[in-house]
Amino acid sequence: MHFETKAIHTGLDSPDNTGSVVPAIYPSTIFEIDADGRKKGDFHYTRLDNPNRRQLEHLISTLEEGEGALAFSSGVAAASAVMQSLQPGDHILVPEDIYAGNRMLIQNILIPWGLEVDFIRMDQTSRIEQALRDNTRLIWIETPSNPLMRISDISAICKLASDRGILTCVDNTWPTPVNQLPLKLGADLVVHSTTKYFGGHSDLLGGAVAARKKDDFFERVRTVQWTGGAVPSPADCWMLCRSTRTLPYRMRGHNEHAMILARFLKDQARVSEVYYPGLDSHPGHATARKQMSGFGGMISFLIDGNAGDAIKIVGRSELIKRATSLGGVESTWEHRRSSEGENSVTPENMIRISVGLEHPEDLIEDLAKALR
Ligand SMILES: *Cc1c(COP(=O)(O)O)cnc(C)c1O
Repeated sequence: MHFETKAIHTGLDSPDNTGSVVPAIYPSTIFEIDADGRKKGDFHYTRLDNPNRRQLEHLISTLEEGEGALAFSSGVAAASAVMQSLQPGDHILVPEDIYAGNRMLIQNILIPWGLEVDFIRMDQTSRIEQALRDNTRLIWIETPSNPLMRISDISAICKLASDRGILTCVDNTWPTPVNQLPLKLGADLVVHSTTKYFGGHSDLLGGAVAARKKDDFFERVRTVQWTGGAVPSPADCWMLCRSTRTLPYRMRGHNEHAMILARFLKDQARVSEVYYPGLDSHPGHATARKQMSGFGGMISFLIDGNAGDAIKIVGRSELIKRATSLGGVESTWEHRRSSEGENSVTPENMIRISVGLEHPEDLIEDLAKALR
């Protein structure tokens, strides 16, 4: 089946037989035990498993073309579960411009817990090879990276890692499985902030891990999921399944509109640089073409000026909302450095825009006014 069909028809299986086409929400935290005891695989208690969570996990693993998936209460909780499935003393490699929330997670919790971490540039595979150590267990990939839009070569990195028995995990939040399928390119794991495009309407928080194989490491992440307890509510799982039905069509709109806006921005006098992997001028364009089927809805650009000038430009929009995060139907933008805080490596004159599904001509009019 094609992606669009799978997005609509997967995860509809309910444990009742009412014939309802849309599954019910199962708010119950407890499930009745058989008179002859509890059977393996039965529902028991909602932190461990819940029908709505099972539906969502089935849907995400199907779309990422993996053997299994696990849902979490946020994207950071999903990342945390993967990293906590390692052992203290293990070494991991992460991108120098890793998503700022994951940087805080690593610095505030996982390094004190005992992980050894190197932050490196991942758009040149040779740098990764140089940074490997005997205790390297995991390479974390984020492509396009946030907010510098660097492109890492997923299959080259996964080849290098698997030859040495090192795990690879790709943060696929920005491209989504509509634009990029890391498990097909050799990655072991994919993580998501489903808060973004899966949710798509800026009204829920969630995260997920999908795995190419249901192996021991996957079972370890599952143990962290239900033991650590950062699980999503049944209502959020239901809402995420509902939103995911339209994911491929929304992504098509985000891809198309971002391309139009990136081309527009490139021609503006106040704009000195546009970072969008769909532009021929992007240094990672060739790799992006190889591994992505669409270039996504996120654009970063530099303005000719300083932080104050960038904040002023963002302040002049009337249609584009000033907000952090991304992936909603409405366009948003922000002075990125202000959102990232301490240790940010983002240039001070950078603006990041999440291109929504409004008509692109209305967005261009708003941008033109703000840049005037
Ligand atoms: C937002 C985001 C996250 C974290 O997700 P939350 O749902 O906010 O915890 C992780 N990675 C990327 C690329 C993101 O954009």
